[in-house]
Amino acid sequence: MIAAEVAAIHAADVDAASRFPHETIAALKSARLLSAAVPVDCGGAGAGMFELATQCATLAQGCGSSGMVLAMHHIQVACIARHGRGSAYFERYLRDNLVARQDLIASITSENGTFGDTRSSICAVALDGDRMTLEKDATTVSYGAHADAQLVTCRRAADAAASDQVLVLFEKGAYTLAQTGTWDTLGMRGTCSPGAKFAGHGRAEQILPGTFADSSAQTMVPYSHILWSALWSGIAADALGRAATFVRNAARRSPGTVPPNAPHLARAYVELQAMRHNWEACAREFDELTAEGDAAAREELGTMAWALRMNQLKMSCSEMAPRLCHEALQIIGIMGYKNDSPFSIGRHYRDVLSAALMVSNERIASKSASMLLVFKDN
Ligand SMILES: Cc1cc2nc3c(=O)[nH]c(=O)nc-3n(C[C@H](O)[C@H](O)[C@H](O)COP(=O)(O)OP(=O)(O)OC[C@H]3O[C@@H](n4cnc5c(N)ncnc54)[C@H](O)[C@@H]3O)c2cc1C
Repeated sequence: MIAAEVAAIHAADVDAASRFPHETIAALKSARLLSAAVPVDCGGAGAGMFELATQCATLAQGCGSSGMVLAMHHIQVACIARHGRGSAYFERYLRDNLVARQDLIASITSENGTFGDTRSSICAVALDGDRMTLEKDATTVSYGAHADAQLVTCRRAADAAASDQVLVLFEKGAYTLAQTGTWDTLGMRGTCSPGAKFAGHGRAEQILPGTFADSSAQTMVPYSHILWSALWSGIAADALGRAATFVRNAARRSPGTVPPNAPHLARAYVELQAMRHNWEACAREFDELTAEGDAAAREELGTMAWALRMNQLKMSCSEMAPRLCHEALQIIGIMGYKNDSPFSIGRHYRDVLSAALMVSNERIASKSASMLLVFKDN
């Protein structure tokens, strides 16, 4: 309902004005969906990966940027919910900020100088007794100005290695975010993701327990790759849905004949089904694994086999989505090319062009290539 009745109505304006989808996020808050990933014993809905991915795919059919904002928020919540248990600070945050107030969390993993490698940081958290401070020069911060908190990667200490990272949560009022660039992009314009200089302060308890190496492998990467893949499939599904309506309209005009572009549509749906089944299978597997017991699941999520599966899912879906938007455009023709037609594919196509860049597929492929040198994925 939110996808069709709110997100889809504002999607064109969000895209044209490169503005935050306020209406959609307000509707998600009213429906208490921003705490969907919070465990039931902390007052949330305790939604698993499959349910969260389905939400993102559905919302993205109405507005790709809204689907991406929801996905990124769920990813941050999952990191806190899965790695902050046992911490009085994070348990309070889950109940009071996420469940009661429906706060929105943004993510700062990118940094000038680390070239898209999320697993290394230059900035370091500075501890002084139970107080801490952090400064970070980020290249891209989605909806940072509209969020109620920022979850930031950094080195554990000034003398720590670049990959010895932690996640730190900063609440609104305890940080500044000075915009350093613009966000005039081809697509995903409503995510409002310019570069920014971050400076925050707080207490040591706001450092998420454990290492980012673990929270990245066990939570951030699987949630990102599965939820993103789901939302990209939602965008592709809406593009093909427009193509299907176009073909049906043509069939109605000539009863008893099959329009010449109908078989092209049928072939495109084969690929959409494969894309959907890919993320659905990974989501179900994640839910089964995590239902088995935490220790076993965490071990499995740390294996090369799982890392390869996540990389393959991300590369496959991020490359499939633009192909499917391209197919939709070929099926519809000029009416899909026009920005002001009900069959326009422009926004969809531009939005999914971000998929292969959002953690570069080349970077992911070279990580997978190194793993495949020592691991047989069969
Ligand atoms: C819509 C959108 C929203 C985003 N939101 C956020 C956010 O909220 N917070 C945040 O922190 N970041 C965000 N990002 C940034 C994102 O997470 C990545 O950090 C960023 O897209 C990577 O930038 P890059 O292209 O310079 O990266 P790089 O990975 O450095 O890639 C640059 C170029 O180098 C090539 N390359 C890199 N490594 C290799 C390799 N090993 N082998 C071969 N070629 C290689 C790539 O092909 C690419 O052409 C967002 C990005 C997008 C598109």
